[in-house]
Amino acid sequence: MGVYQEEKVVDLVCGMEIPRGDPDTLISYCNGQPYYFCAPCCIKAFEKNPARYLKPKGPIGRFLARLVNANIKVFGRAGPPCH
Ligand SMILES: [Zn+2]
Repeated sequence: MGVYQEEKVVDLVCGMEIPRGDPDTLISYCNGQPYYFCAPCCIKAFEKNPARYLKPKGPIGRFLARLVNANIKVFGRAGPPCH
């Protein structure tokens, strides 16, 4: 019996580890990158506000975070849509 380790990915919305190849795993593409989610509510939350979950690091990330917060105030939602 071989040990098969299924590759795990993290659902950015709820933080749950999910197997990437699982048929129940949902995929959303943002900026050409696949992101994986455990449930429709998670993928919807991500697609509504991807910047909130992507959390870029460094000065650009902080700048973007401010931009997102400003957008939320002005438009009631963050940034441009994913697709
Ligand atoms: Zn989830």
